[in-house]
Parts: sequence; structure tokens; C-alpha cells
Amino acid sequence: MKYNFKTKQFTEIDVLSKKLSIAGSDKDIDWETLKLKTEQLTAVIHKIDIPKGHPVIIYGHKEYLFPIAILACIHSNTTYIPIDKIYPIERIKKIIEITGSQIIINCSNEILDIKFSVNIDSTLNLIFNFNPDYSKKIHETIEDHLQYIMFTSGSTGEPKGVQITQNSILTFLDWANKDFGFTAEDVFMNQAPFSFDVSLCDILNSFSLGGTLVLTSSEIVKDKEVFFNRLISYNCSVWTSTPSFAYLFLRHSDFNSGNIPSIKTFFFMGEDLPNRTCNILKKSFKNARILNAYGPTEATIITTLVEITDAIINQYPVLPIGYPMPECKILIKKINSEDKEGELVIVGDHVSIGYFNNNDFNKQKFFIHEGKRAFRTGDLAYYENDMVFCIGRNDDQVKMHGFRIELNEISNIICENELILDAVTIALKRNTEVKKIISFVILKDFIEREILFEQLDVFLNRTLPYYMIPGDIVVVKSFPYNSSHKIDKNKLVDNYLKQQFNNT
Ligand code: AMP
Repeated sequence: MKYNFKTKQFTEIDVLSKKLSIAGSDKDIDWETLKLKTEQLTAVIHKIDIPKGHPVIIYGHKEYLFPIAILACIHSNTTYIPIDKIYPIERIKKIIEITGSQIIINCSNEILDIKFSVNIDSTLNLIFNFNPDYSKKIHETIEDHLQYIMFTSGSTGEPKGVQITQNSILTFLDWANKDFGFTAEDVFMNQAPFSFDVSLCDILNSFSLGGTLVLTSSEIVKDKEVFFNRLISYNCSVWTSTPSFAYLFLRHSDFNSGNIPSIKTFFFMGEDLPNRTCNILKKSFKNARILNAYGPTEATIITTLVEITDAIINQYPVLPIGYPMPECKILIKKINSEDKEGELVIVGDHVSIGYFNNNDFNKQKFFIHEGKRAFRTGDLAYYENDMVFCIGRNDDQVKMHGFRIELNEISNIICENELILDAVTIALKRNTEVKKIISFVILKDFIEREILFEQLDVFLNRTLPYYMIPGDIVVVKSFPYNSSHKIDKNKLVDNYLKQQFNNT
């Protein structure tokens, strides 16, 4: 069996409906059960009578019901917002405030601290949260159905909701099913949190092909033995992750094809893929394919792809991000015509229709090029031998451990704390890799160091996901300024490093 995203039907491709469809962190189900549960949840969604375009939050972390909830939303033309448990409650409340979402499909067994009433659906064993004042507001004004809103870090201090339509998903799937080289035999190791589209890549691939999805919770990943045993026992064939995630395991002597023979493809996306990572993998998994994919959330999961062969590893110290997907154009907008690199602009049907309710940013980042939607990525790139190479960014957005972070968002959130007058956040890098995030703060009034850090700790854990919490917070009396009257971030870093050096 598989799911046809165009006709929105489950279709039989074999008699193997007893084949495993999802191995959740809590339960395993076969394709027949996936179909049954999706139809049951679709019926519940229809009964609730959600207005067209009203976004429904799906909350949880690697439960088997989460991908079912996604599929039921797609099946019933319901807009959804995936939220992983890694988001603290204040961020969830902010997302509710921004989108006006008044319904949560809670796949976890955790009761959320939100003023929504709780309804348990006994057939599906699912918690639904409703706002008691649930109004039937109509959000949707576009023809192409808005399928999901995925929240990503936003420089103003509020997360930005990237809106992706059904047609964009179909454009992505046309490419994926044709060119990625996966089949119904594939077993996808799904590890990235559901609030990032790296994880949606596996879900769409697996459901559209009739494959198997093995959900791997952060608890499982923490214990290398348990994680490797899961890969082995489910015969995982596709490893999808950011390169940083794979890097955590490269040094383990049992991370090789002798111990985990089922892995046929390493599918990397989300951040720069270092040449050295591929070098190590080519030795430990001799016959596995390594795919490098690139793309921002604003252009439906990924936009370019290339298989990293031995020849490519040997030829390019900085690896290519690949060839653009069919029907998509990558423009390089150079400042001067003699420049090699410029800003990477994506043009195509898989580009988002814009951020949710965010006209200022939409004007800055999105435009129409030759009748198609276009997105200014902020990535600096160039073409060589028909392939695109990405060499960094033209702004303050960084990736740390594969997570996308706007440094200004951290500063703005810190400034919401009553003790803080001003804050600047910088990323300490070695080459292109972010090693540490440091926030420099000016206090409103003097406060004992211990009390300050205790209060900030509680505040930051309530407001920011763990991966955005600065590795260090440094109290300064004032910020240094450069000749163009901008905060001199280089000087802040220099002072910080000097201090660290003196303390050792
Ligand atoms: P996200 O929206 O979280 O997928 O992050 C998108 C950003 O991650 C891009 O704009 C790039 O800055 C970076 N990125 C994603 N994939 C790659 C890649 N393969 N190589 C280099 N940078 C990447």
C-alpha cells in the first residue's frame, strides 16, 4: 500500500498491507492500520468542522500518531502547524497568538499548560485541545490550499511562520519520487524534530512510496546502543539528518557497514556538509550513497541535490550543494558583475507563498520572477560546472547543530527580561562552524551575579528552545562601537576571547 498525495487515496501496490508503515517511539503499526487510523482521524476532523485554512497545531515527539495526524490533515485539506516537544510553552503560546490557532491535536500524553479545554478521543487515544471561545474564523483566501505553517527563528524576537501550499508539496514529491532513488523497500530513519522540514522529507518519501518510517526519539538517540540496535533491528536503509547529527556517531567504532549493514543512503540536508564527514563515511560505509541536499524551509524542504561521489570529494574541498530541482531556477544575484558569488535566489512553484501575517518580511524576502514565486535566501553562492556551491550567509542567521537560529531573536527575547536593558548576541565560529553562541548584556540595575544567572536561566528555559539558549552570557557596562556607529561585534568577541585566555 502507499498514499497518493495527488488523488488523496491509499492505493494497493501489493498484498502487503500487513507491512510495517510506522515504527513509533511508542507503538508499531502496519499499512492497514495507518489507513484505518488516518481515516478515523479525518472523520474526527470533519466532525469538528474546522474552517478552511484555520491552522491546527499538531503537538508531540515521535509518537506514531504524529505522522498520522499530518496525513489526516493533508487528507482532509486541513492546514497544520507541526510543533515538537522541544518548544517551550511560551513559544507555543506565541505561535498560538500569531496564528490564532484554536485547536491542538496533542499526540503526546502530556497535558499542555494552555487555556484550552481538553477532550480525549477514545478511539484514537488522542488529546484534542480547543479554545472554549473557538470561533470559526476563515483564514484562507488563496486558491492553492495552505497545507502547513512551519515556524522558524525570526530576527524580531518572534518566530516566523513559513506557509507551504499543497501544490508546493506535490512539486517536491514529483521530484523526490523520480530522482532520489528510493523505493517501497526503503526504511527511513526519522530523527529530526517534527517542527523542522528535514523530518517531513522522510514522512512524504515513505508514505508516497509505501515504505516504512522508523521514528527515533531524542531519548533513543541519547543511548548509542539503543539507537544502533533500532537501526539494525528495523533494517533502516535511509539515514536522513543534518551532517552535525551524523557527526555525533562518526567516532564510534561500531558505526560502520559491518555492524549496521542495512544503511544504503546517507541523506544530508539542513546545513553545510563538510568534506571530512564524507571522507570518514566513505571509509566506514563503503557502498552507501551520500546525498547532499540544500534548501530553506521557505522552499518546501529542499531545492538542490547531488550525490557526493569519491570524485567530488577529491575534486572539491568545499562540497557542492548540487543541481536545482527540475522546474526550479537558482539565480545568483551578484553585487558587482565581476563577483564570483552572490545571493542565492530560488524561483519555483515550491517556494512559499510568504510568512504568515508578516508583510514587512514578505516584501523583503519574496517577489515574483517571470511569473513564479521567488525567495531571497540570504545564502551566498556561486555556480561551477553546472553545480551550485554555498559559501555562507549575508546576514546574522546561523546554524548550530543543524538548528536554524536568528541571533537577533535571542537578543530580543533576552531584552524582554525585566533585568536587562540591552543585549547583543554573536556566534563564535571556527571556519564556518558555529562553536558557541554568546549574548552580551547590559543590566538595568546592579544585581548579584548568582541571582541574575539563576533568574535568566529560568527565563530562557521558559521562552527559548534549548538549542537557542546562549552558551555564555556576559555582562558588560556598554557596547563598543565602530567607526560606522554600529556595535563592534568583532571587538566584543576579541574581548571575550582575551578574557577566556586570561582565565585559563
Ligand atoms: P532551514 O530552513 O532550517 O532548512 O535552513 C535553511 C538554511 O540552512 C539555508 O538557507 C542554508 O543557510 C543552510 N543550508 C541548508 N542546507 C544546506 C547545505 N546542504 N549546505 C549548506 N548550507 C545549507
